[in-house]
Amino acid sequence: MAVETVNEAAVPVLSHYIDATEVAVAPEATGPVYNPATGKVIVRVPRGGQAEVDAAVASAKAAFPAWRDMPLIARSNIFFNFRALMYEHREDLARLITRDHGKTFPDALAEVLRGIETIDFACGLPVHLSGLNTPNVSTKVDTSTLRVPLGVTAAITPFNFPVMVPTWIYPMALMAGNTVILKPSSHTPGATQLQAELWTQAGGPKGTFNVVYGGKEAVKALVEHKDVKAIQFVGSTAVGRYVFEEGTKRGKRVGSYTSAKNAMLVLPDADLDNVADAAVASGFGSAGERCMAQTMMIAVGDTADQLRPKILERIAKLKIADGMEPGADMGPIYSTEHRESIIKWIGIGEAEGAELVVDGRTFVGPNPDGFFLGVTLFDHVTPAMKIYQEEIFGPVFSIVRAKTYEEGLALINGHKYANGTAIFTTNGGAARRFKLEVDVPMIGINLPIPVPAGFMSFSGAKDSSFGDLPMRGEDGVRFWTQQKLITERWPEPGKQGPLSLVFPGNS
Ligand code: NAD
Repeated sequence: MAVETVNEAAVPVLSHYIDATEVAVAPEATGPVYNPATGKVIVRVPRGGQAEVDAAVASAKAAFPAWRDMPLIARSNIFFNFRALMYEHREDLARLITRDHGKTFPDALAEVLRGIETIDFACGLPVHLSGLNTPNVSTKVDTSTLRVPLGVTAAITPFNFPVMVPTWIYPMALMAGNTVILKPSSHTPGATQLQAELWTQAGGPKGTFNVVYGGKEAVKALVEHKDVKAIQFVGSTAVGRYVFEEGTKRGKRVGSYTSAKNAMLVLPDADLDNVADAAVASGFGSAGERCMAQTMMIAVGDTADQLRPKILERIAKLKIADGMEPGADMGPIYSTEHRESIIKWIGIGEAEGAELVVDGRTFVGPNPDGFFLGVTLFDHVTPAMKIYQEEIFGPVFSIVRAKTYEEGLALINGHKYANGTAIFTTNGGAARRFKLEVDVPMIGINLPIPVPAGFMSFSGAKDSSFGDLPMRGEDGVRFWTQQKLITERWPEPGKQGPLSLVFPGNS
């Protein structure tokens, strides 16, 4: 596959965004970003490291005291402005997502709107930051709680949701009064610059929201920087574990939300047309590059035999094309290297003895230079196979067969990943049982991609998450603040009791 590298000097270069200023970078210190639908280099992204992280942290540190002390309503008004600007520019953001990632334009637009849900939540910050006050916990003694921001914080985000995942993080950190450095994926950086500019346009003070581009070196600099107090990371388990271990070792608060292998459990009483729709939408939407999508089906009894023709019928109708093309259901894979990795996984599945029902490798894309791949369906996948155990993160869907509900549940509960799962059934009792018995925190019932709304908490478990607190929602408020407990007494002059050395009690 030819990846165009000619005329790179003419390609625009992104700038870091530090102290509300675009920091220009020489083309030699940048890497290419490809449009996966054409294979062409469309922009160059800086490879930031220690120096850029140091500059961003210094800016964020200087901005912190005034941002922390800003009246809450004034801070909230900036979020209302920002929300309006993000909505106004939703299609611009979506076009940049499609250009860099390859997902279809309607899917990119939906991602932007899901991200805005978290900004909606941040607009209500005066309510979310309220503390509690308990009078008379002892004689004339009152106790109250208050939540204060942590200081300079960081967001490290993956390629697959260039707007939604960052907006699940930085608005929450900012609303709580922290300042932020966002380090997005270098594969899909295009929509980041616009978000930072809109923040400044909304009235966000300089230094509150900084962007540093880069890879391993920039992440290491953030993880090791003594002035970075908290980090939320979203990406693969290998990197998330490193960020969590190295960050917490240095006293930082870290939440890493990582890889997944989600399975839908299908009971024989399910509405099988709904299940087939769900399997195809979930397995192949966004080219299978969604961490909450169900990429496996555990079909109980003989449901797999009934479902297979329904799934094949739907696959035959899929249109795989440039994500900007009207009617496209699926775009290309985001990078040529990732496409090669998925192709390798298909070969592994075949060698392991899974039945290759549809082979995506045979698909011929609309542009030979694009990173296109067809959809793949495996049947008779078993837990002993690597394609069952590991995340593939591409348009590869597996059918696993189980004799009973209990066997299917045990498979889900035995997996090392636990991000999302779903049950498909018309039996309310079975669904209720599943909610209580399944060892996965985010659960769908007759829904394939059970991502909670942007104002609610979000977190996996096991190898899909590191750290105690979920992101977003009220848990996000707890993550981005330190709680203080104040115990106070206001004795009337001259009316104090006698001096006592006894430990204070409750009278
Ligand atoms: P990734 O781990 O490769 O990259 C994530 C971030 O880490 C990026 O900013 C990247 O630049 C940086 N990075 C990459 N390699 C690094 C290294 N060696 N050292 C330090 N930093 C490094 O992940 P990705 O490929 O961008 O995203 C896909 C993964 O993210 C999948 O595993 C997917 O399941 C996961 N994901 C999880 C969630 C969730 O909420 N649990 C959401 C989206 C994606």
